[in-house]
Amino acid sequence: MDPQRTVLVTGGAGFIGSHLCDELLAQKYSVICFDSLITGAKSNISKALTNPNFRFIECDVTQELPKLPKLSYIFHLASPASVIDYQAHPEETALVNSMGTIEMLKLAQEHQARFLFTSTSEIYGDPLEHPQKETYWGNVNTVGVRSCYDESKRFGETMTDLYVGKYGIDGRIVRIFNTYGPRMRKTDGRVISNLVNQALEGKPLTVYGDGLQTRSFCFVSDLVDGIMKMMVTDGLSGEVVNLGNPEEYTTLDLARKVLSMTGSSSTIVFYPLPKDDPKMRCPDISKAIQLLGWKPTVTLEEGLGKTIEYYKTV
Ligand code: UDP
Repeated sequence: MDPQRTVLVTGGAGFIGSHLCDELLAQKYSVICFDSLITGAKSNISKALTNPNFRFIECDVTQELPKLPKLSYIFHLASPASVIDYQAHPEETALVNSMGTIEMLKLAQEHQARFLFTSTSEIYGDPLEHPQKETYWGNVNTVGVRSCYDESKRFGETMTDLYVGKYGIDGRIVRIFNTYGPRMRKTDGRVISNLVNQALEGKPLTVYGDGLQTRSFCFVSDLVDGIMKMMVTDGLSGEVVNLGNPEEYTTLDLARKVLSMTGSSSTIVFYPLPKDDPKMRCPDISKAIQLLGWKPTVTLEEGLGKTIEYYKTV
């Protein structure tokens, strides 16, 4: 492995992590992938596993870790990330983003590697400011059903900032807004995986609440491009940047779009809104545009089309 181009991706067998590994391999990096496989899957990295520059290690980053060759970048993505997944694994989620982040920061310090923490739009909670800029502090319930994720990501940001200030590591933070695409687990409970699979199976589409809550959806290839730019661009240590697609849709709009794009005759049924479900979410990406020259290029129609085709095959 080339020490100048050896990188670590935690959560590399997950939905976003596996696409990031593929992109790094395509750019000729040597990739070490850590994943505990609690929500990731080996099937996501089946192609990467055939590449001699890829090494998969099944491990939990909060536990003792194997000895590693010299790393130049550490991408810390490991965490359950869908509402259903982190509520099924609240302790693992809280610990991987807190203790796990500290372990990865220590590793970055030891290797003098550049560090990127993948935070989330969830740190804004149920936002009172719209769209959300990086300067907004958020509106988060510390003891709610989402707190294992929201609060541990907030703490992970704090520790990253602390290691930048106190130990001089080169650390960056991205806040990822709703992302979708192939490899998102069929049963992870997210709105796009649920609605598309329900439509394909001729089942009723489950819209929660009145369906007027909003989200904005970023296709995974755009997101990976943003993560790469955030890592390789010099001079961004200590920066926090939103990555997401600013086109905003209500859940009901999305359900109607899924019905028309799949040609499904499924009905729409309304279920109660889950507790602490944010009423709106949309990134302000002016900082990403300015610092990275990045903005999403894949339209919802294009991305949904690829996602629908993917779900037909799994
Ligand atoms: N949602 C929905 N039907 C579903 C799954 C989710 O209406 O089958 C809603 C959910 O209540 C939320 C939005 O879609 O308002 C996005 O949910 P998701 O779990 O994908 O992401 P998050 O809540 O983390 O943004």
